[in-house]
Amino acid sequence: MPSFSLDVISDDSDFAHLDYAASAPCVRAAAEAVQDLLPRYGSVHRGTGVRSQASTLAYELARDVVAEFVGARPDDTVIFTRNTTDALNLLARALPEGTTTVQFDGEHHANLLPWPNPLRLPTPSTPDEAVHALKRALDGLAGPVLFTVTGASNVTGEVWPVRELADVAHAYGARVVVDAAQLAPHRPVDLTELGADWIAFSGHKLYAPFGAGVLAGRSDWLDAAGPYLAGGGASATVGDRPGDLTWATGPARHEGGTPNLLGAVALAAVCEALTATDRTALHEHEQHLLARLRDGLAGVPGAVEVSVFGPEHPRVGIVSLALPGHDPAAIAQRLGREHNVGVRAGQFCAHPLVRRLTGGDVTGACGDTPGLLRISFGLGSTTADVDRVLVGLRETLGT
Ligand code: PMP
Repeated sequence: MPSFSLDVISDDSDFAHLDYAASAPCVRAAAEAVQDLLPRYGSVHRGTGVRSQASTLAYELARDVVAEFVGARPDDTVIFTRNTTDALNLLARALPEGTTTVQFDGEHHANLLPWPNPLRLPTPSTPDEAVHALKRALDGLAGPVLFTVTGASNVTGEVWPVRELADVAHAYGARVVVDAAQLAPHRPVDLTELGADWIAFSGHKLYAPFGAGVLAGRSDWLDAAGPYLAGGGASATVGDRPGDLTWATGPARHEGGTPNLLGAVALAAVCEALTATDRTALHEHEQHLLARLRDGLAGVPGAVEVSVFGPEHPRVGIVSLALPGHDPAAIAQRLGREHNVGVRAGQFCAHPLVRRLTGGDVTGACGDTPGLLRISFGLGSTTADVDRVLVGLRETLGT
């Protein structure tokens, strides 16, 4: 069970929050880190006063904590961004000229849309198929290549075979970025173990409040690229004539403007708490809830669990349901109104994957599918939450 610093804070104990995959609730470690800093923060990287010095230190310490959380290598850069979308867009703008990007079409839009020169592969049905499809795609590609893959699907919760795919990518000289928005809240994310060159994730899905995310990984492409946001902080020297300037290197190059100190500190506080805790116990608790939910769903007529790799494939605490003959949005609304349960309905910013899973036309326009209903959970979730949604589904689907 969670330790104290990982207790979820909530003022509504009667609400069954089962929409963690969208935004997870805040844990005590994050709330306390913010509260501690509120009465004494000042400018970051910009002042000589005691508040500014302490804030600069807190910000850079947060970076060190995140570096440890992702197992950053000595040459890696950790950049604070707004969220995963921001982090992946940043990397997309930092790719060397002529880079080909390769990804499966089941990615979240944040890991589907930012990439230049995309080679989009159909979502495979098995991990082996994924490996072979990637090999075929990489064979013969010239120039720099970036393979972009999710750590865990935001639709099905299934864990992608990132390491196997990364090994293939590296064997062909390609680099790899892992979208860990859904993996990081549930599993340790170590760059070396994942075989990733970069990793991206969001604080608001990792039990910290909104507004901070991370891109961490290889420095060379990031230092060679133009700054993500031109302005103060990103510039080292600025002359009198336009264009007469030098850009900073390291994280500062891509963190133009005043940084989100509170966001970074909150996010790092969760990383620190997770690093210090027994992840196996958290994992076991989550898998117990998952099994209870899936067993219960098997007895709910009209609810069909969806998956890419099959029902036995490992997954995090996310389950999506097709509800043939029902409008998932209407069912989700009734669950909220009549059972005080928060879930999500729709296509979850993964339109091609949801169309495929619902038997829709994968080449068709967006919006031609009723979508799915998603149940997702994590720290602080209980068997009572799971039982509540099961009762709610039985009642709403039966009437
Ligand atoms: N990737 C995945 C797998 C996600 O689930 C999400 C959020 N749903 C994102 C990227 C984008 O995260 P954010 O909205 O925090 O930028």
